[in-house]
Amino acid sequence: MRKILVAGNWKMNGDSAANSELIGGIISGLSGIADSAAKPDVLVCPPFPYLAAVREQIAGSDVQLGAQNVSEHPSGAHTGETSPAMLQEMGCTYALVGHSERRALYGETSEQVAAKFAAALAAGITPVLCVGETLQQREAGNTEAVINEQLAAVVDNSGIGAIASAVIAYEPVWAIGTGMTATPDQAQDVHRFIRVVLEAQDADVAAGVQILYGGSVKGDNAAGLFGMPDIDGGLIGGASLQAADFLAIVEAAATL
Ligand code: PEP
Repeated sequence: MRKILVAGNWKMNGDSAANSELIGGIISGLSGIADSAAKPDVLVCPPFPYLAAVREQIAGSDVQLGAQNVSEHPSGAHTGETSPAMLQEMGCTYALVGHSERRALYGETSEQVAAKFAAALAAGITPVLCVGETLQQREAGNTEAVINEQLAAVVDNSGIGAIASAVIAYEPVWAIGTGMTATPDQAQDVHRFIRVVLEAQDADVAAGVQILYGGSVKGDNAAGLFGMPDIDGGLIGGASLQAADFLAIVEAAATL
């Protein structure tokens, strides 16, 4: 059975004091949720400058640390970039790759995302591969073609076996930060599609990979989404910035 993962993407928010309060609240809230097979895994992805402090604060807790981005290059003249080895040294076990904001605002192509995915994996970091269509693409009936292209770039580059060591996040761009959540059925349809695409190449990989949903997940819609057969948790933006909001999602997952 696939475990539920609830991952917070803090984006470019917070400061030392706010982060400390947020993590403190998450850790104390998590300790109040009884251990069970349903208790989800929890991941936070703070901005780079705070990785070390957050790492220290989560030590000994069940909270895992991830980065919001990773360079595809190992070292050298890449001003402003952060290598997979640096993230690994900072205690990151996950890194987001191909978040729609990186694709749309910073011009990351699917080929570049595929290179980042491979670089993260090579450093022992689990890539969280974000895929998703814009509203325009959905309305034009191109959702599956877009997802297929974004997945294929990674699978062609790293091989289907690499997906077994990764997480996929389906994040419809039109649902990110808009309050317009995909319905559980809409999300399930795309999650199923992703699994079917992978299944054509390796049934075990398709059955085992966690596929998260992201896009305006809140405490009151999480259970409906995570209860769908192919949805294995969430990548949470806005609602990951307040401990109570984030914990409400974790608690919803724990009741499934
Ligand atoms: C995200 O940016 O990954 C995200 C899902 O944001 P939000 O939850 O705010 O829609």
